[in-house]
Amino acid sequence: MAEIHLNGLIASPGLAIGPVTMLTTTVARRTASDNPTQEATALRVAIESARTEIAEQIKTSRGEVADILEFQVAMLEDDALADPAYGVISQGVAADHAWRLALNVEIDGYRAAEDEYFRARAADIVDIRDRVLAHLSGVDTVARIAGGSIVTADDITPSAFLAADWSQGGAIALAAGSPSSHAAMLARGRGTPMVVGLGPLSWSGQPPSLALVDGDAGTVIFDPEPETRRLFELRMAAANAARIAADAGRFAPACTADGRRIAVLLNIAGPDDLAGLDPAICDGIGLVRTEFLFEVSQGLPEEDAQYAVYRRILDWTQGKPVTIRTLDAGGDKPIAGLTTDSERNPFLGLRGIRLSLARPEVFRVQLRALCRAAAHGTLKVMLPMIAVPSELERAGDMLDAEFAALRTQGIACARPPLGIMVEVPAAALCAEDFGAAFYSIGSNDLTQYTMAAGRDIGAVADLNDTANAAVLALIARTVEVGRKRGVEVSLCGDAAADTRLTTALLATGLTTFSVSPIAVARLKAAVAGVTT
Ligand code: PEP
Ligand code: MG
Repeated sequence: MAEIHLNGLIASPGLAIGPVTMLTTTVARRTASDNPTQEATALRVAIESARTEIAEQIKTSRGEVADILEFQVAMLEDDALADPAYGVISQGVAADHAWRLALNVEIDGYRAAEDEYFRARAADIVDIRDRVLAHLSGVDTVARIAGGSIVTADDITPSAFLAADWSQGGAIALAAGSPSSHAAMLARGRGTPMVVGLGPLSWSGQPPSLALVDGDAGTVIFDPEPETRRLFELRMAAANAARIAADAGRFAPACTADGRRIAVLLNIAGPDDLAGLDPAICDGIGLVRTEFLFEVSQGLPEEDAQYAVYRRILDWTQGKPVTIRTLDAGGDKPIAGLTTDSERNPFLGLRGIRLSLARPEVFRVQLRALCRAAAHGTLKVMLPMIAVPSELERAGDMLDAEFAALRTQGIACARPPLGIMVEVPAAALCAEDFGAAFYSIGSNDLTQYTMAAGRDIGAVADLNDTANAAVLALIARTVEVGRKRGVEVSLCGDAAADTRLTTALLATGLTTFSVSPIAVARLKAAVAGVTT
């Protein structure tokens, strides 16, 4: 049988080899009553059981996994999801059939969405559909995946991913799917290679038994020839050796080959991301994305709750600096009740600092919590999506006012330095006009706005390139302004962790990188190989 080469999109890097497991959905049978009232009750009970089951899982989950499960709970709590199903049930249709019909309409709607973010959420609705169906039928329909296998499917739900044991290796190769899906985020967090968008996986004879997944190149080879397999295994061995060497060096400070010290900070979503990590691996925390605090279904977080979270992070660093970003909602991060969903292009709308200034009653609570936390460590505060100096000035005035009010009330507090994210080209081009205490470059947004190529749109992924000379010029310009003004410039976008870019980024003069914990060892090893 000839080997089959397929090209797709990179969803999670890394190499893997293993037996192919085709993910198929089990359709459970259920005996329906002929009574619409009983059927409606059965559906209500099944939805509530699914919701309770996920809420239980949240209690033992952390970070991204908890966020994803929260999203599913919020969907199940939204009556609008089940209303069409109850409507069909009242016309005599069985509960499981009605639920499937209603959810399939919803899934099709998400799949047809213009925005990649919403298309990527389709797998979550499939997950919710199947979970409720499982409760209706009493049969668990989540597919079991044997450790070490290469999972092929059209798409994969977060539940199917979480049910598998990825500690023995394995990878995911999807006909459809999206790099922005929740399953892709989970795969990146676990280091599981994943390639999506391979196109139809249809086999003219026997399905393939073995596959090689190259998550660095976005390719999959089914039924490889012995020589292809041998070469791939050599590459895997070399990559493994490099990873082990890099891991061993993660506690050492990052230094270039010519001895330039590079600060390596962490990007986190909350204190749970720090569990089990040793602060010695980093020089501090460069980005806390506080959005997760606002994603809870119980409403906006109170000052004390925010303060407690910020303090836990400061306590973990034992005196090293922590940069907390104020709420960056909107764009690819909608938050129910806070962001508007009527914008045609949310990336150009009321997001980041614009939203915070438009909702001072929400922003002031966060600023107060930050001033209180600042009394207990080296805290810096940074503002997302700054485009003009007046935004920084207005936020600065509000910070001063909250600090003064806390002092008057005799509450322990400090006024943290206020810096800006440089992620709008206007801010990079006029960086010297901002009286910022520091600059932190958000290359994810800076790249998409400079190249006019959405960060989550696969069709223009080649243009969404931080290595483009225009983006690098804006980064170099910001670094130069920081040098002249004597303030720190760091890079906290995903490009900081992309070791293919390390040489080019160091050439801009950058000396501070902020990356997710999993990327620290690899970045330090890459830095050590560069002569500046
Ligand atoms: C960025 O834009 O590079 C950034 C770090 O912010 P986010 O990815 O959260 O928008
Ligand atoms: Mg950003």
